[in-house]
Amino acid sequence: MNLHQMTVQALSGLLERKELSSSEMTESFLNQIRMKEPELNAFITVARDTALDAAAASDARRARGEAMGSLDGIPFALKDNFSVKGLPMTCASRMLRNYKPPYTATAAEHLLKAGAVLLGKNNMDEFAIGSSTENSAYGPVKNPLDARRVPGGSSGGSAACVAAGEAAFSLGSDTGGSVRQPAACCGIVGLKPTYGMISRYGVTALASSLDQVGILARSVGDTALILNHVASYDPKDSMSWPGAAADYSAAMGGGVAGRRFGIVKEYLGSDMDPDALAWVQQAVDRLISAGAKVEEVSMPNMAHCLACYYVLMSAEFHANMGRFDGLRFGLRAEGDDYFSMVTGSRTQGLGPEVKTRIIFGTYVLREAQYEKFFLKAMKVRTLICRDYEEAFKKVDCLLTPVQNGLPFLWGSRQGDSVKMAATDKLVIPSNLAGLPALALPFGSSEGLPGAVQLIGKPFSEAMLLGIADYLEQEGPRL
Ligand code: GLN
Repeated sequence: MNLHQMTVQALSGLLERKELSSSEMTESFLNQIRMKEPELNAFITVARDTALDAAAASDARRARGEAMGSLDGIPFALKDNFSVKGLPMTCASRMLRNYKPPYTATAAEHLLKAGAVLLGKNNMDEFAIGSSTENSAYGPVKNPLDARRVPGGSSGGSAACVAAGEAAFSLGSDTGGSVRQPAACCGIVGLKPTYGMISRYGVTALASSLDQVGILARSVGDTALILNHVASYDPKDSMSWPGAAADYSAAMGGGVAGRRFGIVKEYLGSDMDPDALAWVQQAVDRLISAGAKVEEVSMPNMAHCLACYYVLMSAEFHANMGRFDGLRFGLRAEGDDYFSMVTGSRTQGLGPEVKTRIIFGTYVLREAQYEKFFLKAMKVRTLICRDYEEAFKKVDCLLTPVQNGLPFLWGSRQGDSVKMAATDKLVIPSNLAGLPALALPFGSSEGLPGAVQLIGKPFSEAMLLGIADYLEQEGPRL
C-alpha cells in the first residue's frame, strides 16, 4: 500500500474503514518528508508536533464516532504565504524569517476545522514572485519528476510536495498562474477558481485585483472535494463572493457530450512548442469522439497580456509591499534615523526580483507615467476581458496549453526577465479576467507528464471539474 500516491478520497476510505489511523498516516507522511526533503526542499517549516497532535485528536474523534467528514485526519500542506497562528510564515523571504502571524487564514481555518492535519508550510518564490522557485531565500525546490527541471512557481513547493507524496494536497496562491503552472510542471491537478471564490484573508497579498487561492491535488475528484471545503463567503475578504459554497463533487461523472469547446487561434502559431500543441490536439480528439463540439476562436488581445499583467501586478505589488518597512513585521536593520532603518531593512530583507518589481511598480505609478502605463494597462485589461466575453458567446469552455512545453531546465531563464515572464503567457490572461482555470495532467513527452488547461466563465467551476474528470479518466496520462 503506497499511501503517498493515493488520492484524498482513497486515504479517507482507509481512515473510515479503520484500516489505518490518522496518526499512522501522518507519521508515514512525515517519514516521506524526512526522506525526500534533503533533495526536494519543498518545505520551509515542518510542523511535526502540531501535526501529530492534530492526528491524535482526529483519531480520538473517530473512536467516539464523531469523525467530521472526508478530510478529517488527512495530512496536507500550505504555501508559506498563508498565515497559521503559532507557525512561522516567511513568504520565502529573509524579511519575514522570524515572523509568526497572530491569526489563521480563512481558507486554512476551513481545512483545520474539517479535521485536516497540517504537516507544514511549503517553499515558494519570494512573496510569490516567480515561475520556478529560483527566487526563494530558502533555496530552490527540485522537480520530483526530473531534478534537472524546475518544479514551476511560485507555488513550486506545494506542487512538488504533492507530486512527491509528502502531503495529500496543498493550497497555493495564483496571481498569474502560480498554481496551474507548477501543477503542470509536476504532473498534478491545479485549480485557480473564479476571483472571489476562496477567501484570501490571511494570505499575503501580491496583487490584490489578481490574487486567488488555488488547490493543488492528485486528482480532479480531490480538487472538487477540497473546493467544497474552502469555497465560501468571507466578510473579511472584501472581494469574497456570497454564492461560493456549493457541492462541486456532484459535477463528477457528467461527461462532455454536447459541450462546446474553443481552441484559441492565437495559441496555435509557430511559436508554440509541438508537445504543447500535441497535448491540446489529443484532448480535442477525445472530446470530439465523446460527442463534444470543438471550434477555433480568435482572441487577438491575448498578445498584450504579459505587458498588461506586468504593469498592473507590479503597481499593486509595490503598494502591497509598502508594509514591509522594518517597523511592523520581521527583519529590522540598525539605523541612525527612520530612513536609514527602512532602507537598511528593505535592502537586507528583500531579494533581487522583489526589488526589481517594486521599482518597476513605482515607476509605472509616477504621476508623469500614469496615463502612459497604468491607465493604458487598465484599458488593455478590459479588452482582454472582452475577448473572453466574445469567446464565451460561442463556446462553454476554452482548451489551451498551460505552458509552452515541458518545464524548463534550471538556470535557463533566471536572470532573463523577458524569457521568464513569457513562461506565463498562457496562464496570466484568466487572472486578468478573474476567470476559473484548471490545469490537468494530459499526454506526455520524454517520460514526463504533459498538461492542458480548461478555462470557463465566472463561477463555472462545477462544469470545469466535470470536464476535467472526464479527460482524467479518458486521456493519455503517464
Ligand atoms: N510567475 C508570475 C509572476 O512572477 C506569477 C506569480 C503568481 O501567480 N503568484 O508574477
